[in-house]
Parts: sequence; C-alpha cells; structure tokens
Amino acid sequence: MPIDPQFEENKEHAGEENGVDVWGPTDPPEELGIHGTHVAVDYDICIGDGACLEDCPVDVFTWVDTPGHPESEIKAEPTHEAQCIDCMLCVDVCPVDAIDVDPGRAGRI
Ligand code: SF4
Repeated sequence: MPIDPQFEENKEHAGEENGVDVWGPTDPPEELGIHGTHVAVDYDICIGDGACLEDCPVDVFTWVDTPGHPESEIKAEPTHEAQCIDCMLCVDVCPVDAIDVDPGRAGRI
C-alpha cells in the first residue's frame, strides 16, 4: 500500500525527530509513522532501498537507523526537506511508493 497523501488529515502529529515532523500513531520499533511534511516518507513502507538518497539533486535525504523495524533497519529521513525543488524524482524512483511530495505542504517547522 502506498503512502497516504492525505496523511495530514488522516494521521495525528506525533512529534518531531531529526528536525522533521512525525505523523502517527507510532509504536516503536515496529510502527514508526510518516516522517516529514513537504517531503513525506512513510517509515512503515520504506525498505531502505536508497534510490531517493542517490537521485535527489539537492540531498534532501539522510540515513537514520531504525533497529527492529520489520521492513528495514535503515530509513531515508527527509532531513533537508526545506531544500526540496519538487522535481519528483524520489517519488518516481521509490520501489515501494513510500514517498509523497507536495509543495502545498510547507511543514510545521
Ligand atoms: S522531489 Fe526532488 S528535490 Fe524534492 S526530495 Fe524528491 S528528489 Fe529531492
């Protein structure tokens, strides 16, 4: 199942990690929610493929460790989402549709 692009309405703001918003519910380490707002990564879908890190022209993503998560123990954090130029490459290359980018979502931070 791909990331829900309506997560702002359908999920709750559960806090912040690594400078980005987290949308829950969360129940770590198995359930980690969505990270980011303008550039949003569903951690519960992400398999740590890395195509987004390799292809993003402005280096929005950084690796974070997520030990104990059933899909992968590293995730792509949209740490620098404010730099995003909305090229949509990450959305296109993600093999599991874990990423949604919407310039209309500015982020809360
Ligand atoms: S849309 Fe483009 S610039 Fe923005 S995070 Fe994805 S790859 Fe990077």
